[in-house]
Formats: sequence, C-alpha cells, structure tokens
Amino acid sequence: AALLSVSRTTAINAYRQLEEQGLISTRVGSGTYVADLAPPIQPSSPTVPWSQLFTPSLNTQSSSILRELIASTSAEGIIPLAAGMPDPALYPLIHFNRLFSQLSAHLNGADLGHIPTEGYVPLRRILAARLTKKGYNVTPDNTMIVSGSQQGLYLITKVFLEPGDYVIVESPTYLGAIQMFSAANARLLSLPASGRLPLDILEDYLIRYRPKLLYIMPTFQNPNGRVIPIEERHELLKLAAKHRLVIVEDDPYGELYYGEQPPLSLKALDPYGGVIGLGTFSKMLFPGLRTGWVTAPETVINRFALEKQYIDLHSSNLSQKLLYDYLTEDLLDDHLVSVRTEYKRRRDLVASALKRYCSPHLTFTLPTGGFYFWCTLNNGILTRQLLHEAAKTGVSFVPGEAFYADASGARELRLCFVTHPEEKLLEGVKRLGKALHVLGNN
Ligand code: PMP
Repeated sequence: AALLSVSRTTAINAYRQLEEQGLISTRVGSGTYVADLAPPIQPSSPTVPWSQLFTPSLNTQSSSILRELIASTSAEGIIPLAAGMPDPALYPLIHFNRLFSQLSAHLNGADLGHIPTEGYVPLRRILAARLTKKGYNVTPDNTMIVSGSQQGLYLITKVFLEPGDYVIVESPTYLGAIQMFSAANARLLSLPASGRLPLDILEDYLIRYRPKLLYIMPTFQNPNGRVIPIEERHELLKLAAKHRLVIVEDDPYGELYYGEQPPLSLKALDPYGGVIGLGTFSKMLFPGLRTGWVTAPETVINRFALEKQYIDLHSSNLSQKLLYDYLTEDLLDDHLVSVRTEYKRRRDLVASALKRYCSPHLTFTLPTGGFYFWCTLNNGILTRQLLHEAAKTGVSFVPGEAFYADASGARELRLCFVTHPEEKLLEGVKRLGKALHVLGNN
C-alpha cells in the first residue's frame, strides 16, 4: 500500500475541521476521540475509560436483563411478583432478635477472628446431622458453608469450567445459573424440563459432547415447579454413573412443600458419588443471612475451599453462629411448618384468582412446592407485550425468556406467590388480568 505523507500543519488543520463539525473531540492530556466514543468527563477526577478497562470476556448482556427487572420491580406503585423472596413478615424475627441479643452480649475475641474457610465447625456438624436425617450420606467434612448457594455455584463454575466446556442445563432453568455458566464462556446444552425426564436426549448429549456437568433442580424446579419422580431419579443416576457424569443438584425449595413430602434428593440417592449438592437458608429463613452450603466428596470440598480463600476467606462468623444457635434450639422445623401452611394458603388463593381474572389468556399447572407459578400465555399474546401493559396496570413478573439459554419463553412468565399477604397478591393478579384483557381484546 502507498504511504501518504502529509505535513504537520495539514494534519492539525484537518483535525480542527473535524472538531468544528463535531465529529471528534480533543481532551487536554488525554487525546483525541471520535465524538460518540469519547468517554464522559467526570467533573473533578481525571478521565478513566472504565468500561473499556473491563476484561472483554465479561458477559454483561444477560445481567442487564436482571437489572431492568429489578428496576421495574421497584418502581413506585407496582406490586412486585417477580423476585423469589420469602415474605419478610414471616421471618422468625422474635427468635432471631433474641438470639442476636444473646450473641452480641457475650461476644469474645475468638468469635471475631478468622474461622476455617469451610465454615464454623459446630454449624457444619449440626447441618450435616440434619442432612443425614434427610437421607444424605454426608459428614461435616463433606459439608461446606458458603455465602449463599450462589457462591457455591460460583465455586463450581470456577473449579470445573473452562471456556468452551459443555454444561447441560434444564430448559427452562435458574437465571443465575445461566448467567454464571455463560460468564465462564461455557456452552449450554438444553434439556427439556417438562414431562418425563428425557434420558434419551441426555444420553445423546453425554456421548456426543462429553459435558463437564449437569445442573439440575429435581425438586420444585425454578421456575416451573416440576418434581422429578423417584423412579426417574434412579434412572437418571444410573445413566450418570454409567457415563461418570457430574451432577450439580440445586435444592433451595425442597422443604417448602404444600402437599406430600417430595422424594429423596439425588444427593441422598447417589450410588456413585458424582452428585454435588447445593442448599441454602435463603428461602426457608431469609436471604440476608447469606448462608448456604455445598455437599461434595472431601477432595472437591478441599478444592472449593482453596478457591473460596481467594474470594472471602470464609463466610461471616456472625451469620454462622446465629444460625447455629437457631438450629441448636431446634426452631427451624416449627418455622417450616408455619410457612408451609401460610404459603399453601397463598398458592391456593393465587391459583383461584388466576383462573378467575386471567382465563382464558393464561394457563398454569398448580405448583406442589416452592415459590412460583409458571404460566403460559394463550391467544397469541406475547410476554413482552404483557410486561409493557402490566407496568401500566401496576404489577411485575419475570418474563419467561430470562429462564432459557436459547431464545425460548416468549409466551411464558413466572409469578412468585409467597412474598406478599393475601390482599396484595389478589390485587396483583387482578392487575395482571386487566393487562391481559387489554391485550386479549385487541
Ligand atoms: N439457586 C436457585 C435455584 C435459586 O432460586 C436461588 C435464589 N434465587 C439461588 C440458587 C441463590 O440463592 P442464595 O445465594 O440466596 O442462597
């Protein structure tokens, strides 16, 4: 290519003309920028192009869906049926206030120093004992405390996944897991999560792609509420054992059932030691404790602990001690009995309100546990249209698309039925019905 040489004055004049036309801007001490790309000027600090310094591999696309959601949920006057939160009015505050006062009155230096990365040992013991009662074959050494099961998911991702690795997820599945695996540049294979567990598809994936792991919620799946029956759990484990597949079983809702107790967890039934269990107190008690757990073989726990050291050394002593005191007084089971009763009432109320106010434009199957109604829109109505219309009538939900690794879910949505008292839930469903009828009549 020919090299064109121009004088300094010609170049300066050319820059000046571009600047006069508003096509570029010059910053003293920083350089010349194409106008639209110039970083905004921070009033009193030197200009740092922050977003250009973030590592290119950071995937911000899907996290923006979440941010938008949270924004719409918190808008004034909106009844939020989006977030998967227990009702703060049902938090066992009487006990936690008392236990917290006792704890703070007798704190000593040892309580405020570092504790092992794997967690406060007495809590690990009492938790492992609780899990053993539920059929798990675990000791405290197989049980690690994490800052919410979200951190467990992070540790699993960090320890097992390299860019390009295949991960099987259900379709639909938990948004946070899609985001986590995508941010690690894993490739997601979708396993349909309705009806019978499609073992033929799963086996095909296992043979063809040699995936690193399967992420699955066998009990009260988020978002669709599905429970995998016991026979299918055994079949899944048999296939997994044959292919030495690692299964990550996420089970935040297993104790929140409104009819029969669900079947034993995969981790409890696991004959080959390939299941990693994730659990949390966020839904049974409250999310602000940031306390969850991972159950896995000791070798895996040790590797997770190394990784957790990089993040936070260990989860908060105070949360762990408080929880330990709560569990030691044997208060959790009574609490669970009372929230199950209340959430069942709310589920039934929302189910009949949905039939009354949202038929025939919306259909659902009754969830037997967990926090959500997973709904399908009929009559050609799209979830995006409904989201728009519902913002006007004053109710929010999570659009189905958020739960798919591919572009499905355009006619689905998730409603949380536990966070509010009955009148507010009823009003929320009425508002949803109003929005649906506007669209249905068009
Ligand atoms: N997994 C699932 C399926 C969830 O629904 C949630 C909470 N929305 C989490 C993990 C994370 O929960 P936490 O970090 O609060 O324990």
